[in-house]
Amino acid sequence: FAPWIDPASTPFLRFEGVTKRFGDFEAVDDLSLSIFESEFFALLGASGCGKSTLLRMLAGFEMPTSGRIVLDGEDMAGIPPYRRPVNMMFQSYALFPHMSVEKNVAFGLKQERMAKGEMADRVEQVLKLVKLEDYAKRKPEQLSGGQRQRVALARSLAKRPKVLLLDEPLGALDKKLREETQFELADLQYQLHTTFIMVTHDQEEAMTLADRIAVMDKGRILQVATPAEIYEAPNSRFVADFVGNVNVFEGTVRSATGDRVTIETSGGFDIVAERDVPVETGQKVSYVLRPEKLKIAAEPISGPNVMEGEVWDIAYFGPVTSFHIRLDTGEIVKVAMVNATRQSPLQLTWHDRAFVTFDEDAGLVLTQ
Ligand code: ATP
Repeated sequence: FAPWIDPASTPFLRFEGVTKRFGDFEAVDDLSLSIFESEFFALLGASGCGKSTLLRMLAGFEMPTSGRIVLDGEDMAGIPPYRRPVNMMFQSYALFPHMSVEKNVAFGLKQERMAKGEMADRVEQVLKLVKLEDYAKRKPEQLSGGQRQRVALARSLAKRPKVLLLDEPLGALDKKLREETQFELADLQYQLHTTFIMVTHDQEEAMTLADRIAVMDKGRILQVATPAEIYEAPNSRFVADFVGNVNVFEGTVRSATGDRVTIETSGGFDIVAERDVPVETGQKVSYVLRPEKLKIAAEPISGPNVMEGEVWDIAYFGPVTSFHIRLDTGEIVKVAMVNATRQSPLQLTWHDRAFVTFDEDAGLVLTQ
């Protein structure tokens, strides 16, 4: 957590058993979630998982079918959107093209009938915050994509909401600009300490920006944790697969004694791993290995936790080289390494920092 967040404090925002149905389709399914004050929180999931619907219910554009949303001690039911202390940042194309930057930013304040002097001060302040003070008189069409995005951000911050909602805020920007803008967004949140809730399907964006991430699927939350926890200790195969790259091997437990478990995999090799949840002989499991946890054995080795294969494909990415290794069984394994190799055939092995997912329905996970 960032130092200004107090995880022991009463959550600032609570979704309590929130369900949203459209006809008989359940977009959000009995979802509960707590968010702290000043937190940068990300809702991460594939298209259609219900993340925007959740945000829209908080903003007041949609009503929950059942459940409650409590913000800063106040039940949001019956409170119209314009009276909620939240603001939604829309994509930059929602700017008014015929208005200058400063008029765009002042728009919401004018509607609130803020006094002229105060309004001018406020506009100047937020434009400074997004580093656009020299662009106040320009029209949106005279700005770059990134600058337009910052105007949209300034506009949504001008009213000083308690919670800023960002729905795919950087989706319209190209990769390089998106990365730059990510840093600006993080920096801004750092300065303001406003609670930010961002919706994204981009796992890198969520990992870069958020204090905590909720991974969503089919209207439910699968895991809420810090980026490092989500990556290192995903609680299901779905989460492991969604966040970062993985190799997944299906297998069957051959034996489980003490804190060790032996798994026979479909990849034609055996795995010995530590276990911290009960498993039974014969149980079906998924073994999940991150590409960067694999390494090429320097000398021939035998035993469990060794795969044999040939280099199938190499892609150079600068800091790492990505390999596809074809196992004798035909399965392709992804490997990421700092140094490239031309060695083939080869043996792959790994430290025990990989994880096994048992029994998806029960949500049991064995790490390491
Ligand atoms: P995306 O990233 O594509 O915006 P999302 O995760 O934000 O996806 P939502 O917009 O929350 O998804 O939609 C969740 C599901 O609810 C989708 O299947 C969508 O078709 C459905 N849905 C959303 N709004 C309505 C509506 N007004 N009427 C009927 N179905 C809707």
